[in-house]
Amino acid sequence: MNARKLTADYHAIATGLVLPSHAFIDGKSRPAISGRVFENVNPATGDVIGTVAHCDAADVDLAVAAARRSFEEGVWSRVAPEERKATLLRLAELVRAHAEELAVLESIDSGKTIKDCLNEIGEEVPAFFQWYAELTDKSFGKVAPTGEKTVAMVVKEPIGVAGLILPWNFPLLMAAWKLAPALAAGCSAVLKPAEQTPLTALRLADLAMEAGIPAGVINVVPGYGETAGQAIGRHNDINVISFTGSTEVGAYFLKYSSESNLKPVGLEMGGKSPFIILDDADIDDALVSNAVNSAFWNGGQNCSANMRQIVDARVKDTFLDKVIEKTRTIKVGDPLDPATDMGSMVTAEHRDRILSYIETGKSEGAKLIAGGGKTKGLDGSFIDPTVFDAVQPGMQIAREEIFGPVLGVIGVDGIEGALATAKDTDYGLHATVFTRDIDKAMYLSKRLPCGTVAINGFTEGNVTVPFGGYKRSGSLARDKGTEALDQYLQTKTIWITLK
Ligand code: NAD
Repeated sequence: MNARKLTADYHAIATGLVLPSHAFIDGKSRPAISGRVFENVNPATGDVIGTVAHCDAADVDLAVAAARRSFEEGVWSRVAPEERKATLLRLAELVRAHAEELAVLESIDSGKTIKDCLNEIGEEVPAFFQWYAELTDKSFGKVAPTGEKTVAMVVKEPIGVAGLILPWNFPLLMAAWKLAPALAAGCSAVLKPAEQTPLTALRLADLAMEAGIPAGVINVVPGYGETAGQAIGRHNDINVISFTGSTEVGAYFLKYSSESNLKPVGLEMGGKSPFIILDDADIDDALVSNAVNSAFWNGGQNCSANMRQIVDARVKDTFLDKVIEKTRTIKVGDPLDPATDMGSMVTAEHRDRILSYIETGKSEGAKLIAGGGKTKGLDGSFIDPTVFDAVQPGMQIAREEIFGPVLGVIGVDGIEGALATAKDTDYGLHATVFTRDIDKAMYLSKRLPCGTVAINGFTEGNVTVPFGGYKRSGSLARDKGTEALDQYLQTKTIWITLK
């Protein structure tokens, strides 16, 4: 990638972009069959920046038919693994080559900072295509120990047509989390980006064609959940769903499946994750940066955001002083300014929902100690990073996923108090633990009911490790790691009787 540019340069790139506006079905850009469109708004300015095809069940039928045809013809599902690998590696390179354009597109579509978009799209998205590309020709089947008179092979086959449903908080990264393993497995895909952020997934489909992925293998149908999303969930010719989004909508996909062809449904959903600080932890700059980043990265619009910071009462005051100081240094502003740390919320409606949670927190008796409202001097959907102290585990702001920059600090007594409070949630996606004692770190890692436990550093890990949730945060399916391939493969036994 080129050296980082100035704000004016990114605005110039934004002005020159041709924004995708059509669906992408069977290798071609096309309007919705109904001819309808929906408006696309830049939440940082409130400006309508374009219109996008408003796909519904008829477009989904077309996309599924194209995906099915490509799958049955074997143009991708049965090509030699090394050919799939080479094509996916070309796609990784094309994403790298177009990272700046894609990052600006994503930023104006979502309000995310250019800094984060460049990092996600320049580094992480290509890493996903590259890593799964490399797995395509390194996955082996098994021969079972059945004795002299038989040979029993256990092989994995692509499951067929995958319906991929995406959220708006990491639009292209979530597309890569799902598409890369689905394509590596040999599936064809029908992907629905969130209606708030359809642009980069549509552009990715163009790049996939340029890389040599055959027509029909990737189809992108922008549209609303109740129409395009539901049509995918209920489609009888889709073999698997991989969904990322809210727990409420994830539950709909189970219903859609039970009322259609019983397709397996992989769910990656919400969270209300704990960040635990034991009394032996050094409350140093690294810890405080991790705490603040875990809450305010991506404006808190992050499923693994550590929004319940559970702090031993003996170190809480020191921690709070430093957190407030650090929070005040967060620069909220123009997402296309490379110095901006926190951009706009994804829509004005979402901003208002977060503001109403802040009012709830105040009325519940939590103590507002930083932020608490719209960012002064900015017209778009901006909110100041907000910190509440004296949060009680039973409060609504401690139990519900706010999905915005609202951090709640809960004081506890000792490791058992921390564990009990951390477990007191319907969710189970992620947890961070800070302690200098390896025994306590391991004790908490084993007891915390969640998919990822990060010790002495907030992280979701990288492409190599699985990511997903316990309880109401997920199903057994996992994104990332070799585990993600399992979502898109099925297992076959071939039993040969010998003479
Ligand atoms: P959402 O559930 O509102 O929407 C997700 C997707 O589902 C969108 O594409 C939407 O159009 C579609 N949808 C909405 N209603 C539907 C319906 N009735 N039928 C079919 N499809 C429907 O979620 P969101 O607001 O886009 O994203 C935020 C949520 O995603 C948060 O809860 C967050 O925690 C979660 N998330 C989870 C992970 C993870 O890996 N666990 C990652 C990112 C985001």
